[in-house]
Amino acid sequence: MPENWIAGTWVGAREGGRREIRCPADGSLVAEVDESTAVDTEAAIAAAREAFDSGPWPSTSARERGDLLLRVADLLERDKADVARMESLDTGKRLVEGEYDVDDVVSVFRHFGHVADADAGRVVDTGNPGVVSRVVHEPVGVCGLISPWNYPLLQVAWKVAPCLAAGNTFVLKPSELTPHTAIHLMKLLDEAGLPAGVANLVLGSGPDAGAPLSEDPRVDLVSFTGGLVTGKRIMAAAAGTVKKVALELGGKNPNVVFADADYETALDFALTAVFLHSGQVCSAGARLVVEESVHDRFVDDLVERAQRIRLGGPFDEKAETGPLTSAAHLDKVEAYVAAGIAEGAQLRCGGARPDDPALADGFYYLPTILDGCTSDMSVTQDESFGPVLTVETFTSEDDAVAIANDSIYGLAGAVWTADAGKGQRVAARMRMGTVWINDFHPYVAQAEWGGYKQSGIGRELGEAGLEEYRETKHIWHNIAPEPQHWFSS
Ligand code: NAD
Repeated sequence: MPENWIAGTWVGAREGGRREIRCPADGSLVAEVDESTAVDTEAAIAAAREAFDSGPWPSTSARERGDLLLRVADLLERDKADVARMESLDTGKRLVEGEYDVDDVVSVFRHFGHVADADAGRVVDTGNPGVVSRVVHEPVGVCGLISPWNYPLLQVAWKVAPCLAAGNTFVLKPSELTPHTAIHLMKLLDEAGLPAGVANLVLGSGPDAGAPLSEDPRVDLVSFTGGLVTGKRIMAAAAGTVKKVALELGGKNPNVVFADADYETALDFALTAVFLHSGQVCSAGARLVVEESVHDRFVDDLVERAQRIRLGGPFDEKAETGPLTSAAHLDKVEAYVAAGIAEGAQLRCGGARPDDPALADGFYYLPTILDGCTSDMSVTQDESFGPVLTVETFTSEDDAVAIANDSIYGLAGAVWTADAGKGQRVAARMRMGTVWINDFHPYVAQAEWGGYKQSGIGRELGEAGLEEYRETKHIWHNIAPEPQHWFSS
């Protein structure tokens, strides 16, 4: 079956390309899918443009659109087992994590389903009884949605759900490494009753299938989640037609641990912060900033526990985390660790591929801890997106804040302390879109997500997540027009 979904029909890549999708856990072939090029994306853009300009969707009521999203949430729940399995095969992540991800996806569709009609605009008091003045929300138009491979369907859901709630049409280009759940979502949108042409899907690489979404004048908005370098490229390309741009980029997220923190909990979460999904999490707590007085014990204990983390594939019930997504990504993480060691970081554990023959065909990398790091090293500044923790120390609250903020990124961070006042003070000074106090990683669909500084532009989820996909218009209605006689003639 062809895998591009364009104008309500499954079509193959016009230039006939195919791509093998292999499970990163063992290299096994999952499937072959279409590998599209610009001609396919242009056809998808034309379909989305037609559906926006002439189709019924933009003018359906916000409640109808919300109800459709709620139906999609129900369908995803129905298909949870299959969707989780697809996600785990494409990413190599543990099946249980694939299942958590589907629950999160459902909550995102429910959230936007509920809030779709929550804000119908407002009436403005002009002080003139002959005028009715309203501020209303309208869809932006055709949206280009480009997503990464780490949480494939979740990242898609963060875009697709608000995009549809606001009445837009879209072309989705998911990561070329993890296309299956996006394909399935198109089937569910169709089953839920979305009109043809509103949702369009093209599979393929970023430079070929993705680039037209930031260049084509028929696209009004491009929403991208991925790496900083790609984000800059997309922003520059979108400038040519002054598109609305939403960017969710990388992070180098500090995890600040004060000596007075609940030791065992902070230790446990410091591991999850960085080694969950082998560090392939945009909000990974990959930069431990620990108070000097507890540093030695804390890092010794971390090393001891990190060395016991069990690696394995999606269906290995003993596995605690999985592989990296590709051979290229594994090479990148290895080079990153080598650079850190060359700069003077002290390798405390990991720093290599596992020698277990059962893992030889997968892209595994051992949980790695680099101690003795400083803010001027590449390893503390660059995102590795792998299972690598850097460790820095501080001696005062000001020092902790300065180190935490010494980054071009500002996606997320955490502070651990038993002193609630200190926790609030430090959180308020951390320049990040999300700060956890005595926690790491949780998010809810009702609260905004997004980055300060070079971690992005705009917000997903929450209320602002819907605003990204709306234009706001002021309609001034003079209900008693009369000549003004401004000019005497
Ligand atoms: P990536 O930038 O390599 O690719 C992301 C997507 O962009 C893919 O679909 C890719 O095909 C596409 N792409 C690449 N070049 C393109 C181009 N020129 N034009 C259009 N599309 C193009 O990122 P990745 O490796 O897939 O994902 C990892 C990155 O994503 C990390 O930096 C991570 O921090 C970030 N991320 C951020 C968030 C967040 O919420 N801020 C969430 C998840 C991932």
